[in-house]
Amino acid sequence: MTDHGVIIAGGGPSGLMLAGELALAGVDVAIVERRPSQDVAGSRAGGLHSRTLEVFDQRGIADRFLAEGKKAQATGFAGVPFDLSGFPTRHPYSLGLRQNHVERILAGWVDELKVPIYRGIEVTGFAQDDTGVDVELSDGRSLRAQYLVGCDGGRSLVRKAAGIAFPGSDPTTSNLIAEAELAETPPEWGIRRDALGIHALGRVEYEIHNGEIVYADHGPVGVLVTEQHVGQITEPTLSDLSAALITVYGTDYGIHSPTSISRFTDAARQAASYRKGRALIAGDAAHVHPPDGGQGLQTGVQDAVNLGWKLAQVVKGTSPESLLDTYHAERHPIGARVLRNTMASIVLRREDERTKALRDTIAELLGMDEPRRRFAAMMSGLDIHYDLGEGHPLLGRRMPDLDLVTENGPLRVFSLLHAARPVLLNLGEPGAFDIPPWADRVQLVDAKYVGPWELPALGPVTAPTAVLVRPDGYVAWVGDLTQPGLADALTTWFGPPTAA
Ligand SMILES: Cc1cc2nc3c(=O)[nH]c(=O)nc-3n(C[C@H](O)[C@H](O)[C@H](O)COP(=O)(O)OP(=O)(O)OC[C@H]3O[C@@H](n4cnc5c(N)ncnc54)[C@H](O)[C@@H]3O)c2cc1C
Repeated sequence: MTDHGVIIAGGGPSGLMLAGELALAGVDVAIVERRPSQDVAGSRAGGLHSRTLEVFDQRGIADRFLAEGKKAQATGFAGVPFDLSGFPTRHPYSLGLRQNHVERILAGWVDELKVPIYRGIEVTGFAQDDTGVDVELSDGRSLRAQYLVGCDGGRSLVRKAAGIAFPGSDPTTSNLIAEAELAETPPEWGIRRDALGIHALGRVEYEIHNGEIVYADHGPVGVLVTEQHVGQITEPTLSDLSAALITVYGTDYGIHSPTSISRFTDAARQAASYRKGRALIAGDAAHVHPPDGGQGLQTGVQDAVNLGWKLAQVVKGTSPESLLDTYHAERHPIGARVLRNTMASIVLRREDERTKALRDTIAELLGMDEPRRRFAAMMSGLDIHYDLGEGHPLLGRRMPDLDLVTENGPLRVFSLLHAARPVLLNLGEPGAFDIPPWADRVQLVDAKYVGPWELPALGPVTAPTAVLVRPDGYVAWVGDLTQPGLADALTTWFGPPTAA
């Protein structure tokens, strides 16, 4: 007997998203979270990029975030901003919304889905056997589940206890990020670069006018400062912050009353494997990297959306365990790419003459259409391409949120994904497809679409006759009745046919 189908260690953004995905699929899932409440200590993510907004839209919850955040053109690479306005997505922008709000909104959704959260409790260890995992808790109890997923952050206990290696590079630079009051007003707000690295001062409260950030004229201040030395492992203090400011600005501007001080580095590490038997990892537990480009939370949420439906099918017995191998196969390269672009950004942060020359060169290259489009699509997550073999350009890429016309009226593609169920979308002859052996798992929808087909990184693509869309919104098969492979794709992704 198990207590739950799946236990998730950690209820940060990745754990909450995964819990929602599993609950939607009807799996008995619970979260064990060390923090007694959802409050986020310190400053972390500042917003959501296009693909993460689309992913929330696929579940019908994007409006909750949009109602609270501020839209801005805040996607960029190495200081070069991108304007996504021309991109074929309903969300051609970033949304300024701090991580504490993102987590609060996600936790509200997970609560509606009735996922139990064991709060104020840590996972302290686990042991797995052929049929399940015994998860040890800090209150002395143990819970049994079919699978354990470590969404327990960069220092993941689940990753370590599973014996999963975490290769990568040690930090070369260390930053403090804080919110505090200043007794004196600095002569300049905004970003400063020097030989140490990047620093910034700005009011916490700001408005966005015509896409530009306009800081409030009073209130607490957000501080980002590069430290002189790397390797501090104690919790950062006000005197660390003051010392770092004096080194860079020659004064600490009378800094006082901090509400948060956190330290982050440019360490970049990625788990060698995202799964060891019945233990899996997602989010920061699987990859850590500098915050440049604001990609950590996005990558974790999207790991969860890739894993959720697959794990649900395995737990429910509709798919073999081998489906879980596609989680690592698809998401590891995406994490590796984030590590690569953040490491490159770090090098470009420095302010010596050679680095400046390189940064200017990169900016020049990114001023050209094709490189700009590709990098903007990468940094916004809209270009993600899982390797599902040769074929139509849509294969393995995100399904666009098209406005369809159906027998029952207009319909957005993403609304078909709200319940996290796959869909075979027939845009050709109505009634041409019939998939009775999968009818219990896959929605079959006849629809018409008359507009252009365009993908963010690639541009226009040929209109397909039919597409098989996975619950995570990625296309698993493209074709028409003459095209072989539909039955194989249905079996690969959604399990063997049910006997009539
Ligand atoms: C300064 C800074 C700025 C950032 N800016 C951005 C940004 O702009 N955009 C962006 O996308 N990302 C950004 N990030 C990264 C982002 O904050 C993380 O990638 C994101 O929080 C990862 O989510 P997660 O759920 O995987 O892990 P976490 O948020 O670390 O959550 C892990 C959870 O597990 C819990 N936990 C840990 N161990 C245990 C245990 N043993 N048992 C039970 N619970 C446990 C923790 O309490 C926590 O709630 C930034 C990070 C920093 C530090």
